[in-house]
Amino acid sequence: MDYLADFIAKYRNRTARSRTLSEQNRALAEPLQPVGFHSSMKEICYPIAATAFASGRFRDVDENDYVDFCMGLGSNLFGHNPAFVKAALIEQIERGYSVGPQAELASQLASLLVELTGMERVAFGCTGTEAVMVAVRLARTVTLRDRIALFSGSYHGQNDETLVRSGFEDDPFHGIPLTPGVPRHIARDALVLPYASAESLEIISMHRDELAAVLVEGGQPHRPEREHRTFFHRLRELTHETDIAFICDEMMTGFRLAPGGAQEYYGVRADIATYGKVIGGGMPLSVVAGKARFLNAIDGGPWSFGDASGPSALTTYVASTFSKHPLSLAAARATAIQLRDAGAGLQKGLNEQTRILVDRLNCCLAELETSLRFTACGSFFAPQPPFDESSTLIRLLHYHLASSGVFLWGVSGFLSTAHTPQDLDCLCDALRLSMLSLRDAGFAVDRSDPGLERS
Ligand code: PMP
Repeated sequence: MDYLADFIAKYRNRTARSRTLSEQNRALAEPLQPVGFHSSMKEICYPIAATAFASGRFRDVDENDYVDFCMGLGSNLFGHNPAFVKAALIEQIERGYSVGPQAELASQLASLLVELTGMERVAFGCTGTEAVMVAVRLARTVTLRDRIALFSGSYHGQNDETLVRSGFEDDPFHGIPLTPGVPRHIARDALVLPYASAESLEIISMHRDELAAVLVEGGQPHRPEREHRTFFHRLRELTHETDIAFICDEMMTGFRLAPGGAQEYYGVRADIATYGKVIGGGMPLSVVAGKARFLNAIDGGPWSFGDASGPSALTTYVASTFSKHPLSLAAARATAIQLRDAGAGLQKGLNEQTRILVDRLNCCLAELETSLRFTACGSFFAPQPPFDESSTLIRLLHYHLASSGVFLWGVSGFLSTAHTPQDLDCLCDALRLSMLSLRDAGFAVDRSDPGLERS
């Protein structure tokens, strides 16, 4: 039997109930994460359905166990169901979890976040997309300008205005829609610039009177640290001079790269920073934190009782039904306390473990004479370009690793404090075996997009 057909048959057999669930639920409209649809692998294009999570692992509906490096897409820094989050959630469930009156935990969490992030004020939301949307709106309100600048290859969530890419040759820096459904006039409002280039700084400077904000991701694993650091400092200087809001999107890096995220790591302070994932302790919570000058656009700024003070800053509209959901606040408060008490050693330790893991993975790949390599950004690791999640090797590798009981996001992953040395060994062993099988079956394992032809 053909190798691929044989592999597909085994995978289907192992995950039969996940496949049935997917087949029975065609009413559910969803993109096929994490590796998308591919006609040659159509028969295994369905998501693995999970029934139970604990520490660094989960179990699927077919009772297969997986070491999980997807880790809630990076939201579970302390693994699945850490005891302190579970206890906080149970306590809150007992008290009730409705929204409407002010949540008792909101101001406690706000104080903890001010302490952890070093920012002056904070506001809450549910998703990273929402936090970025609010951050940009605050920047526009305060600067009285409309346009934003962001960088090619970055991701800032699914707002229309950030689902953009750089334009065509004759007009390369004006954004065009990244995907159908994004209006051209919205995309055009964005300047989409090359990351870490001097030219980008010049263009930002040229457009200083139109730009409300420069939006930059806290980190991208495939970029050298030095490049990030220098660029962050240059951006900070320029945005300061031009009074453009520097928005640092810390969704991936917040509380992960360092307690104070990329800003602490690279030694800069943004005007506004957006957080999500880790801080929610596995629950949906996002945070917009920043200088009072910007956050005051939500409520007009602080005022006191018993005197003539009142909201004085120009305000914009910010509202969201579940932005202070008591369960999210309870999980986040427990997580923030844990982060504060653990100190910077937590991130330093995990970052170092990830670096060692990536070295081991790359050593194994070098021995197998493939050009695939991994890189790390803090405790996040990903394949180094030109390999990306859509390349055929990555898709095949994802399914092979899953069939060995190791689950990654594509083949990217997050280390958590719950992963054990055995879990890391499982990944290294599964990678070696998967790549060997693919190579022995004649698949090209040294090009980024070999298609499915044998080499
Ligand atoms: N910004 C960045 C840097 C992200 O990585 C993500 C999601 N991974 C988002 C924003 C959007 O977050 P969400 O999916 O919670 O909307």
